[in-house]
Amino acid sequence: MNEFELIDAFFSSILHSRTDVLLGIGDDAACLHVPADKQLLVSTDTLVAGVHFLPEWDPYDIATKAVMVNISDIAAMAGVPAWMTLALTLPELNEHWLSRFASGLKDALSEFNVALVGGDTTRGPLSMTLTVHGLADKDKVVTRQGAKANDIIYVSGPIGAAAAALKILHHGINPTDFSSFMRHLHKPTPRVDYQPYLAAFANAAIDISDGLSNDLNHICTRSGVGASLILDDIPIHPLVYQYQSAHALELALSGGDDYELCFTVPKEKNNAFLNAIAHAGLKAYPIGVVEPDKGVYAKNSDGVMVSCTSQGYHHF
Ligand code: ADP
Ligand code: MG
Repeated sequence: MNEFELIDAFFSSILHSRTDVLLGIGDDAACLHVPADKQLLVSTDTLVAGVHFLPEWDPYDIATKAVMVNISDIAAMAGVPAWMTLALTLPELNEHWLSRFASGLKDALSEFNVALVGGDTTRGPLSMTLTVHGLADKDKVVTRQGAKANDIIYVSGPIGAAAAALKILHHGINPTDFSSFMRHLHKPTPRVDYQPYLAAFANAAIDISDGLSNDLNHICTRSGVGASLILDDIPIHPLVYQYQSAHALELALSGGDDYELCFTVPKEKNNAFLNAIAHAGLKAYPIGVVEPDKGVYAKNSDGVMVSCTSQGYHHF
C-alpha cells in the first residue's frame, strides 16, 4: 500500500454530510464555505506518542482523544466545530493500527458533525497534528480576555476525574469504575452544548485542559483582573471522592484533562443565563466571583484563604 492508497483506504472513506465542504480530501487544498453571518475559528493541537498518549493505547482511543481535545478549543470560544485536517506521522504502515485509528476518528467526528477535509501523511516517530475549524456567530466570539470585576465564575461540570484516573491507573478498582475513569481520560466530552449560552451571556471562557487553577489564572491574566473562589463550591467528580478523597481538591484544582469549561457571566445577565441553561437541561456550577485586583484566591470551609497560582494552590 502506498501513501495514496493509504489515504484512500482510511481517510477519504470517512464520509460526512456537510454541504459547506465544496472540496474535501483529494485536491491540493480543501475549499470551504463560511456563511456571511459567521466568523471562522481555527485551532491546532499536536499529540506526541509518549507525551500526550502512550503508544500502547488502543488507536481508537488515541484518535478519539485527539479529536475531542481539539474540538474543546472551539467550544471554549463559543464556536461550533465544522471541519478538521489531520497531519499524521507514522513509524510504519500498520493496517490494523490505521483501521482502529480511522474508526475512532470517524466516530468522534460524526458525533460532532465535523468533516475531515484534508491532511498530510508522513513517516517518522508517531505523532499527529489536528487542526479544527469552527464557526462562531459574528461578533459573539468569547475569549479569555473579557472577564470583568463582579462577574460570576462558573464551571460547566464536575472536574478532577481525568487526573484521578491517571493516579489510580494501576490500582485495584472495580471494572465498572475503571471503565468510567478511562472514559474521562480517553473520551473527554467537549462542551459544544454550551455554545449558545456562552455566546449570549459570557464575558470570558476557557476550557479546563491544564487544571482549573491554571486555566482560571489565564482568564484573569488576560483580562487584567483577579478572582475569589469558594473551595467548597468547586464541583468535584464523585469518583474522585470515592478513590482519591485525600487529594480531591488538589486534583480538581491542579489536575488537567477535564475539558469542562470555566467562564464568567456578568451579574446582570445571571438570571437570564440560569433560565436559559435550565431550559436546555444544563447545569453550571458557580464557584466564585471576578475581583478588580489581580491574583486568584480561595476560601476554604474554615474561612482560611489560600492562593491559587498557575502551578496549583498553596496555603498561605
Ligand atoms: P500534496 O502532495 O498536494 O500535499 P498529499 O499527497 O499530501 O497532497 O495529499 C493528497 C490529499 O490527501 C490531499 O487532499 C490531502 O489533504 C489529503 N490527505 C493526506 N493525508 C491525509 C490524512 N492523514 N487525513 C486526511 N486527508 C489527508
Ligand atoms: Mg502533502
